[in-house]
This record gives sequence, C-alpha cells and structure tokens, in this order.
Amino acid sequence: MEVIQYTIGMSNGFFIRDGKTVIAVDSGGEPGEKVFLDECARSLIDPQEIKLLVVTHGHVDHFINMNCMKSLTGAPLLCHKNAVPFLRDGLSPIGKARSELGREIMRRQEIDGPPISVVPRVAPDIEFEGTYDLKQWGVNGEIIQTPGHSKCSTAIILDSGEAIVGDTIVQPTGAAGVSLAFLSDEENNDTSLFESVETILACAHTIYSGHGGPFSREDVQRALYEEKSLRSIGQQ
Ligand SMILES: [Zn+2]
Repeated sequence: MEVIQYTIGMSNGFFIRDGKTVIAVDSGGEPGEKVFLDECARSLIDPQEIKLLVVTHGHVDHFINMNCMKSLTGAPLLCHKNAVPFLRDGLSPIGKARSELGREIMRRQEIDGPPISVVPRVAPDIEFEGTYDLKQWGVNGEIIQTPGHSKCSTAIILDSGEAIVGDTIVQPTGAAGVSLAFLSDEENNDTSLFESVETILACAHTIYSGHGGPFSREDVQRALYEEKSLRSIGQQ
C-alpha cells in the first residue's frame, strides 16, 4: 500500500495505490485538466486506473477539480451524506474560527480576499454515513466520520496505519507546526473535534492532511494535548 501526496494551489490531494487498485482522495485547490493529468503522470498513474474518487469533506478547496477528475477517470465519486449538498449545489460554507490561529487566518483572508471565488458543482455517486469499507474497491481500509472541522468531515484509515484526514488536523501556510482544525462550521465544537482526533490517533501512526504534512502520531498527540490544556485554562 502506498499513499502519494501532491499539492495543487493551497491544498493537498492523494493517490492510494494498493496492488493494482488506485483511488484518488480530494482534488487539490485549483481546477483544470492539466494540473490533474500532470500529477497522474508524475506518479505513473493512468487516469483510467483510478477506480474511486473520495472527497474528505465538502469544502471547495478539496473538491474544486472533482468534476474534471470524474470525466477523466470515469470513476464514481464518494462522500459523506452531509457533504452532498455542498458538492451538488456548489455551496461554500463560511467557517468559524475555533482558535487564535483561525482568527488570524480569517483576518488574513479578509485582507487578501477569499482564496477561491468560484465554487463548481459536482454530483456525488455514492454517499455514506457511519463507516464505509474500502475493501470492495480493493483497498485495505475504511472511511470513518470525524466531525469537528465540519459536520461532513471524514478520515480514510488504512490497515497500514496511515490516515488521510482532510482538515481535521492541519499545518496552515506560515504556521509553526501541526494544529487541530482552526475553523469549524459549528460554534463550541471542541468536544467532537477532540474525539475525532483521538479516534484517528488510535488507528494511525502517519497522518496525511489537506494542508501541510504528513505528521507523525507524536506530533498530533502533542497538538491535541496543547489544545486540551488551553481549553481547560480558558474554562478556569
Ligand atoms: Zn475544510
């Protein structure tokens, strides 16, 4: 099993290769046939080999190129049930800052303008809730729901101990190290975020993220510990 990470614009995309099977996770942060075909060529992957497309959550910087990827690969697109309206209707949710880092990044975006102004629509073919087994696609692993960053956030957990977690754990550009999601679609949602991170840590030693990474289990444990300490200081 091999996880191949690439970066397009502000976000990462991935190929998971398990024997003869390839699945693609997220799209990177820019649209266009060329950007995707270039990444396939760099990884020696024929787009027709890709059997399944997965979106970790319904934020535009993760699915902006999925329409194009669907037509180039002919593969079905899978996402969590709660992500369907974002992909299908091209919605761009406004996240709320969950931490000082989040507030700083939102201030930066107000100065620079929104990172992506056009939200493309793409129709998911398979939606799930709970857990989705990837063995039926020839990949030893599963997808679990990991709410906290968004109600539609998921993580791909591979039997090899690697995980692809979208924005549940990130290292934003310019930030000193790994942090838990700094934006959330819900106010005061730390409890579900912490639980999701703990679930990921129980299954994975290497954590691939939508922004930056990959991170070791120890790095993420440290970030979780710091955030929990900050929260308990804040509550005193
Ligand atoms: Zn996100």
